Amino acid sequence: MVDHRKLGRELGIFHSDPLSGAGLPIWLPDGAAARHAVEEYIRELERRAGYQHVYSPPLGRRDLFELSGHLGHFVDDMFPPLRMGDDELILRPALCPHHCLVYAARGRSYRDLPLRIAEIGGMYRSERSGVLGGLTRVRAISLNDSHNFCALEQVGAEVADVLRLTSEAHAALGVRPAGYRLSLRGPGGSYVGDDESWRRGEQLLREALSGLPYEEAPGDAAFYGPKIDIQVRDAAGRESTLSTVQIDFDKPERFDLSYADRDGGRRRPVLVHRSLVGSMERLFAYLIEVHEGAFPFWFAPVQVEVLPIGADQLPAAEAFARSAVEAGLRVRVESDGSLGARIRDSAKRKVPYAAVIGAREAADGLVALRSRDGRALDPLPVAVALRRFTEAVASRSPALLS
Ligand SMILES: [Zn+2]
Repeated sequence: MVDHRKLGRELGIFHSDPLSGAGLPIWLPDGAAARHAVEEYIRELERRAGYQHVYSPPLGRRDLFELSGHLGHFVDDMFPPLRMGDDELILRPALCPHHCLVYAARGRSYRDLPLRIAEIGGMYRSERSGVLGGLTRVRAISLNDSHNFCALEQVGAEVADVLRLTSEAHAALGVRPAGYRLSLRGPGGSYVGDDESWRRGEQLLREALSGLPYEEAPGDAAFYGPKIDIQVRDAAGRESTLSTVQIDFDKPERFDLSYADRDGGRRRPVLVHRSLVGSMERLFAYLIEVHEGAFPFWFAPVQVEVLPIGADQLPAAEAFARSAVEAGLRVRVESDGSLGARIRDSAKRKVPYAAVIGAREAADGLVALRSRDGRALDPLPVAVALRRFTEAVASRSPALLS
């Protein structure tokens, strides 16, 4: 059974140090390179789907979280406030309060809706030290988040769109889907909002799920509304949640958000909270395990390792590496040790391709590719190899070249 903590350390994805604190992992260069590729892809997917990205700070004044209801209903999961003179600052437990302020930053009309405010942003949870481990449960979280402000009649289509985008992102990343879960209110929980709003939210989510397989989970709703959890299956076949979409009538009320409708009247928007792939931490814990460290080419930390057979081919290898970097690829030249050992080592570190350059390749402007699954491909002209690599990145193809 693959453990992302062990493999993540071996592959140089992340590091945990008691000095920096439990649940506060540090992303190492190779982990950061892979995460950067994934974040770029997610932002591009969202941009094409009409999302707008913002940056907002990971902490804010106490009043903001009193207004949002987090201090009233979520305080057990939050860090204690930081005192600053007469003020108190709070490490935010969610991005919604700031995104509500983005909505309220100027007057809105029906033409602005749906207004999709997205950010891969920092937030914090005061998880108990006993449950922390690797990237699965952390105290500092980078969430792929968005808050989509809609007219009531747009909510059904918006939720269906989110489910489609989530499937697309999951396919590109190699995430294995395991159906949907409708999370509802349960007895004993702490919730905000009136019964009528909860009933309407639930009905809208049921409509968006019609025709899809789902099960119900009473008691798993967010404190402000019902949600759909998009379930995934891990390498051991266990189910977990990365992605969610939630309906919220409460925050627009609390922040007194409104828009001018066609007839000039003021209406309240409905807030759809959604995450396509969840937090970067959870996502990578999952991806490391499900791929056993062998990430698809497009987000592999090092995509090509360039191996000159002898010292005479080092200039040709470095020239190829420079062209590959210019083409947007992540490559490394490795010239120490026997060729066999370097090829084995590259495959062990799950680098998708070794590009071998011997005397013949150097003379003819070729590279001989070996994939990490042990296949040797016919030598290709450098320009052809680079084109096939950049095409594989652009298409986010999960398969290696053949
Ligand atoms: Zn939210």
